[in-house]
Amino acid sequence: MLLGDGRLSHDIDPTDRGPQDACGVFGVWVPADDAGEAEVSKLTYYGLYALQHRGQESAGIAVSDGARIVVFKDMGLVAQVFDESVLNTLRGHIAVGHCRYSTTGSPTWENAQPTFRSTDGGSLALVHNGNLINTPELAARLEPGRLTATTDTEVLTALLAGRPGQGSAESPARGGMSIDAAMEILPVTRGAFSLVFMDERTLYAARDPEGVRPLVLGRLERGWVVASETAALDIVGAAFVREVEPGELLAIDEDGVRSQRFAEPRPKGCLFEYVYLARPDTTISGRSVQATRVEVGRRLAREHPAEADLVIPTPESGTPAAIGYAEASGIPYGQGLVKNSYVGRTFIQPSQTIRQLGIRLKLNPLREAIEGKRLVVVDDSIVRGNTQRAIVRMLREAGAAEVHVRISSPPVAWPCFYGIDFATRAELIAGNLSVEEIRTSLGADSLGFISLDELIAASQIAKDRLCRACFDGVYPIRVDEASRGKHLLEVAQTRS
Ligand code: SF4
Repeated sequence: MLLGDGRLSHDIDPTDRGPQDACGVFGVWVPADDAGEAEVSKLTYYGLYALQHRGQESAGIAVSDGARIVVFKDMGLVAQVFDESVLNTLRGHIAVGHCRYSTTGSPTWENAQPTFRSTDGGSLALVHNGNLINTPELAARLEPGRLTATTDTEVLTALLAGRPGQGSAESPARGGMSIDAAMEILPVTRGAFSLVFMDERTLYAARDPEGVRPLVLGRLERGWVVASETAALDIVGAAFVREVEPGELLAIDEDGVRSQRFAEPRPKGCLFEYVYLARPDTTISGRSVQATRVEVGRRLAREHPAEADLVIPTPESGTPAAIGYAEASGIPYGQGLVKNSYVGRTFIQPSQTIRQLGIRLKLNPLREAIEGKRLVVVDDSIVRGNTQRAIVRMLREAGAAEVHVRISSPPVAWPCFYGIDFATRAELIAGNLSVEEIRTSLGADSLGFISLDELIAASQIAKDRLCRACFDGVYPIRVDEASRGKHLLEVAQTRS
């Protein structure tokens, strides 16, 4: 069964897609005798629902009943892929789930997750958020013909599944996977990976030594949950316990949670999670993302003040920073644009000729609120600039006297190799134009981006513990030229 791709789009202009996150991951373990009541597949469904913003191309859930693993995945949103009858067939006491945006490999069914592999003593299902940067090197460890999909995740799954006969006398496989395989492969895996995987009896979670992408551990009354964001713990009623540490591997089963270190931590959390990626009701390093975004807005107002009558957000992404901007500047906050949230990719897209008007499908100005006003419009980031250009034009047409654009992140001038798909440097407007040139291109009366230092200060995390590469071009994990393509393995397979 292949469902239509019904991505709910936050893109205002389909030719100007915002940053696409890599994925949301979720895992749950409950005691086997609670399996019937806990309904782990439904908990996973709700968890993925809370993480839908992190990936909208495909969704999947794998469930183990202690004896075998069943996987169900398909293209589309979580609520399109799963319904009650499907979830009722996924019975067991351990589950992992995934919603995907492809950063390596094409958006096809084969590349949807969870990935699944038979192992020596059973099987393994795995979900991954992030992007590996040494995939060819890892793939070279596999025997020829062992790859069926084209993702870094598939390579990793094949390696973790190990070779027949791997369970040793000292460390026998408890389910289908030997922990030795994980402790051998994870230290040589490079890039961003927040992993949740399982065999028939044990749930595992692992995070790369840099901890680029988030991963948190939560506690159910009887059981454990791991998830990309704390918002997914909240939705299933799990209490936040702690973040999975960078370089840490957790194993969760009837003996509780066991932790092992596979590498020394070198924390470099993604700064862009604060700007855009994470949900506002998620907490990172003890601080709510919403609070950080409002603080960014305050600092933005002090760095780039404007003489204006009204502060409006680009809904919804600019809302918290616009609140902060209004608060610090004393300029009233209001709504000037109304968003239709239900325009998805299945919606018939306007042709090029009517696309100039097509933006109104997704945003409409509130004329009475903005007519004759000097406006500050706050947005979270500029990727290609088409969206902001259209908004400035729309506001002017609706009678705005002046339009001052304020952005709550520094210019995005460099691509991300750790799981976020922005665009190439050539496509990034800030990769090619100065701030003044961007202002002219947008047609704004003024333009201000928050500085990197102020953004970092608002996050309350030390600069050297953050990845800021898309803003400053300093990549904390070295990426070879050869490892930079999204369709890397497909190209390699075509060539071979
Ligand atoms: S390059 Fe940017 S988006 Fe990518 S991990 Fe670093 S801060 Fe995050």
